[in-house]
Amino acid sequence: MAGSSEAFIQMKIFLSLFLALGLSAAAADRPNILFIMADDHAAHAISAYGSKINQTPNLDRIGNEGMRFENCFVVNSICTPSRAAILTGKYSHINGVTVFNRFDGRQPTVAKMLQKGGYHTGMIGKWHLTSNPTGFDYWNVLPGQGQYHNPNLIEMGKTNKIKGYATDIITDLGIKFIQDRPKDKPFFLMLHHKAPHRPWEPDDKHAHMYDDVDIPEPATFNDDYSHRASAAKVATMRIDVDLNKKDLKQEPPPGLSAEALKKWKYQRYIKDYLRCIASIDDNVGRVLDFLKKEGLDKNTIVIYTSDQGFFLGDHDWFDKRFMYEESLRMPFMVRYPGKIKPHTVSDGMILNVDFAPTFLEYAGLPVPPEIQGHSIKPLLEGKKPKDWRTSMYYRYYCHPSEHTVNKHYGVRTERYKLIFYHDLNEWELFDLKKDPHELNSVYADPKFADVLADLKKELERLRKELGDHDQWVDKPPKSVTGPDAGQ
Ligand code: CA
Repeated sequence: MAGSSEAFIQMKIFLSLFLALGLSAAAADRPNILFIMADDHAAHAISAYGSKINQTPNLDRIGNEGMRFENCFVVNSICTPSRAAILTGKYSHINGVTVFNRFDGRQPTVAKMLQKGGYHTGMIGKWHLTSNPTGFDYWNVLPGQGQYHNPNLIEMGKTNKIKGYATDIITDLGIKFIQDRPKDKPFFLMLHHKAPHRPWEPDDKHAHMYDDVDIPEPATFNDDYSHRASAAKVATMRIDVDLNKKDLKQEPPPGLSAEALKKWKYQRYIKDYLRCIASIDDNVGRVLDFLKKEGLDKNTIVIYTSDQGFFLGDHDWFDKRFMYEESLRMPFMVRYPGKIKPHTVSDGMILNVDFAPTFLEYAGLPVPPEIQGHSIKPLLEGKKPKDWRTSMYYRYYCHPSEHTVNKHYGVRTERYKLIFYHDLNEWELFDLKKDPHELNSVYADPKFADVLADLKKELERLRKELGDHDQWVDKPPKSVTGPDAGQ
């Protein structure tokens, strides 16, 4: 009897060892996914993207050790809608988050699918979708916009005030999530920074960075908005007139000319913006070092992106919303050693709705047919499919609202961009090759008649394919008040 019980125990030990090995093999087979997203970080403030105004050595590590995308675009350039598009892999008119409205967390999301498929899922940092996160084993998020200093964070429904700087805290919590994870499962972590969102409050460490230098002004700093639709002229996000006291944080020196005051305001704005990014860069470096130390660097896909682009004084603006390049383009860099070739750059046109299906494909899970984006895994493996998209559809809904950017939709191809401000009944057409700064609309130029006809056809084709039949056109933006207000 004693012998058979011993044999039974031995068999149990053998079986548990076998199971544990099997499970860790399964975890090793499937990569961890660390999705790091900043808020309002324009690609042209990353040195890997050729920034003329700052250096981001740690962010560049992701691009240098993997692939950098030159043409990653957002389908609706504003915080809350971009987050909903990323989670669902669907455009705003399908996922229901066109403005700052509440995300219906009952709908399918990539987090839910990965969780169901055996991933340990986490969401840390800026959530900004009003409803509580769903599909996450662990979540700890800022309420609404959150604070830069000593922020409140809501951990699985319980609010805690945490001392310190948001970017450091979010990073600490991300590292802790990875440390505490169940080791028999791969993890999926959405690590979302608040920075560098307005009002651009740096930490003490970087408060005096750039004190003694002048940051170069962008080429379109003195744009006068002529030769375009009227939307640009009426937008209230100008460096010279629309930055407020909270943004500037200092009184301007007395007696400045209008031109000198505008230059002074730009320096105040851009230096604080870049200081916030310097802290992100340090903290991303900290996460990358941690992964290496833990031996997780080989089997973790690390992504760095931002929820949209941003105007860095371009066209005399801060903020985003327009379909113009600076706001439309997202930084997107991915490293996955052994699977993605280092130092590679892709010009493939990818969108924020592509992220969800990409994660699912890497996790070996099916991509539901309702998902509108496409997995970019082939591009990451250096194989651009022949039928990969060469045009994208964009739509912005949030008007009337802060910054008074008129509603618009449009199509961008590899060469051209057509924008329709439907409330104004005004169009813009840009030849991005000849006019990369989008200063001169050629919509009325007869030389572009054929191009225009093709683009209008393409725009209608995309609208039909994606199911946008103006179902949200008469719905005014819903303002979310209280701690969730903002964008
Ligand atoms: Ca944003």
